[in-house]
Amino acid sequence: MTMHRIVDLESYVRTIPDYPKPGIMFRDITTLIADPVGFRASVDGLLVPFLTMEIDHVAGIEARGFILGGAVAHELGRGFVPIRKKGKLPWKTIDQDYQLEYGVDTIEIHEDAIKPGEKVLVIDDLIATGGTANAAIELIRRSGGEVVAAAFVIDLPDLGGTRRLQETGVRVHTLMEFEGD
Ligand code: AMP
Repeated sequence: MTMHRIVDLESYVRTIPDYPKPGIMFRDITTLIADPVGFRASVDGLLVPFLTMEIDHVAGIEARGFILGGAVAHELGRGFVPIRKKGKLPWKTIDQDYQLEYGVDTIEIHEDAIKPGEKVLVIDDLIATGGTANAAIELIRRSGGEVVAAAFVIDLPDLGGTRRLQETGVRVHTLMEFEGD
């Protein structure tokens, strides 16, 4: 039995109906990471499959991916690479657009953050459609890096993101699932 099952991590996640707009069930991890057991179990659950794997960097997606990814990188003894919303990184960047329900958004990585051939673990709090994570994976691949896996605390499988990433050859690791969106 894995640790997240013993701890019952799902019960620490707060669900907020109709946020940020009607029809969305917002899965709020602030209640999970505010709890010392919840935070530790989440970080441990994310990294355990990768303890014996060759990883050069952990990349976290702004903003909740920074909290979890930073802790995962520290525990694995690896460096952390931020993937940020457009206009936030101070050095030269490469950017990647991705589709939102209405319109397009853009994320960026420093052009020298990942060296060709480096192995990267991607971390975010939640995967829904997979658009954000897929754009992050594109940035790493365009930098010459190899995405070893992508790990998320929460999967919304009905939105198909996990399948989408797997279809591009990425291993996906998640700790819990919620039905619907
Ligand atoms: P997507 O690109 O559709 O996979 O959406 C993933 C990103 O949007 C993550 O960074 C999540 O933090 C956020 N997100 C999407 N849907 C939800 C939700 N229902 N509850 C909380 N965060 C969400």
